[in-house]
Amino acid sequence: MKPVDGLLEATAVLEVAPEPPVLELRDVSASYGRFRALFGVSLSVPAGSVTALVGPNGAGKSTIARVVTGLVPVTKGRIFFSGQDVTGLPTWKLVRLGVAHAPEGRSVFATLDVEDNLRLTFIRALGRKGTAEALGRAFERFPRLADRRRQLAGTLSGGEQRMLALARVLAVPPKLLVVDELSLGLAPRVVEDVYRALREIRDAGTSLLVIEQQLPRALELAEQVVVLRKGKVVEAGPVDKLGELVRELLAGPGESS
Ligand code: ATP
Repeated sequence: MKPVDGLLEATAVLEVAPEPPVLELRDVSASYGRFRALFGVSLSVPAGSVTALVGPNGAGKSTIARVVTGLVPVTKGRIFFSGQDVTGLPTWKLVRLGVAHAPEGRSVFATLDVEDNLRLTFIRALGRKGTAEALGRAFERFPRLADRRRQLAGTLSGGEQRMLALARVLAVPPKLLVVDELSLGLAPRVVEDVYRALREIRDAGTSLLVIEQQLPRALELAEQVVVLRKGKVVEAGPVDKLGELVRELLAGPGESS
């Protein structure tokens, strides 16, 4: 009987153990040379959910994206990814663990057409077998890219290039997608497509940290919101409780989300 009791106990423990957040920053500071951009930031992205990171210009939102993706080192504090301490890991190791960043710096191959951009990424990530299926999925998700499949990526509009970059990032669904102002300067119709894709990605199990200028859009998608100001977290909590407060906080003169 004893082993069975033990098994039951273990099962009970498994049932109550909460899943660690997919991302957790504990007391993180970061600097550019002598300029300090983050002051003891703590925040978390629960697994399978969307957290919006908002705040006025210069608040440090993009710096958080860079810290999380290993592009800027932390000077203090720790970063955890699904419970694992990843502080100081280089970007390529974080990518392997399942952290993706959109849009990335060098996002598309300008002299290749849209389909070859996707094909190249998919072959590397999925092998020849998975490529045809992944191409079909990408074109279904982004019909504008399907219409332009033979156009050189360098001649796409800025928004279309960002869409292509996102389609490439999603070849292998990441555990965490950090979205940094993806809709900046995009036509409303393109923003619609991008947000539809983000919802699909969330529904497929990817957690998101979304930095977005358009506050209503961010709050529509997110379950949690974190407000950053001058490198510090000033509010954090569920959107249904904090949404109104955040709108008021960010409606001040000269401030944008
Ligand atoms: P925005 O909404 O305007 O993009 P943000 O909240 O994303 O702003 P960050 O880009 O993270 O803010 O910048 C935070 C602070 O760090 C700002 O004061 C900015 O001027 C400074 N900063 C950002 N990048 C650098 C850099 N490469 N070198 C020096 N300072 C920088």
